[in-house]
Amino acid sequence: MDLLSLEEQSKGCESCPLAKQGRTQVVFGDGNPDADIMFIGEGPGFYEDKNGKPFVGAAGKLLTQLLESIGLKREDVYITNVVKCRPPQNRDPKPDEIDICTNRYLFSQIKLINPKVIATLGRFASSVILDMKDVSMGRVHGQKFIKDGSLVVPIYHPAAALHSRANLVPLTEDFKKLKAYVGENVKLQEKAQDTTGDITKDNLAQEQQIGMEPQVEQMGLF
Ligand code: SF4
Repeated sequence: MDLLSLEEQSKGCESCPLAKQGRTQVVFGDGNPDADIMFIGEGPGFYEDKNGKPFVGAAGKLLTQLLESIGLKREDVYITNVVKCRPPQNRDPKPDEIDICTNRYLFSQIKLINPKVIATLGRFASSVILDMKDVSMGRVHGQKFIKDGSLVVPIYHPAAALHSRANLVPLTEDFKKLKAYVGENVKLQEKAQDTTGDITKDNLAQEQQIGMEPQVEQMGLF
């Protein structure tokens, strides 16, 4: 199945309780299906639910500006959320909702897009994607993790930088890192190809784990 077919399939989805809790529409995702960087947030908010696209409010505008600061446009990357329907009163999605929606859509989106870097936006999305409880963004932001063969980089949610301007500095720095990590990943892929003639998720992950920062290794997460 391709990304477009999966998106078609998601329209009108009623697979989890969020279907009947006031959503206007499913917000599947938006951007380049061949993106090097894929951003994953928590879930659609008020404006996303009305508009049908992720990150269209104030946080979305800041995300666009941050992309421009590293020479990218929104159309260059892919942006989506852990769950595709707006939780009522913007509450956190519940475990069963996350489980159903990620297994139906998000994990397939990741496989189909196959980005070089997955940037998780904020504590909630980072916890889900890294499968960790109580992620401390102050501790992990901007660092490289390997999860199921993908390079994952947690960064602050743009809304956190709108809430406190102090968060804008690390967020801006982390965007520069994302760009650098994409370049590193390309080199690793070339190296893996030279060595084996065949790039597999496993050997790519192995290569990347060697280059992981000491603090991450000490945490023994992967
Ligand atoms: S949140 Fe996901 S699984 Fe639940 S109804 Fe929406 S699209 Fe379907």
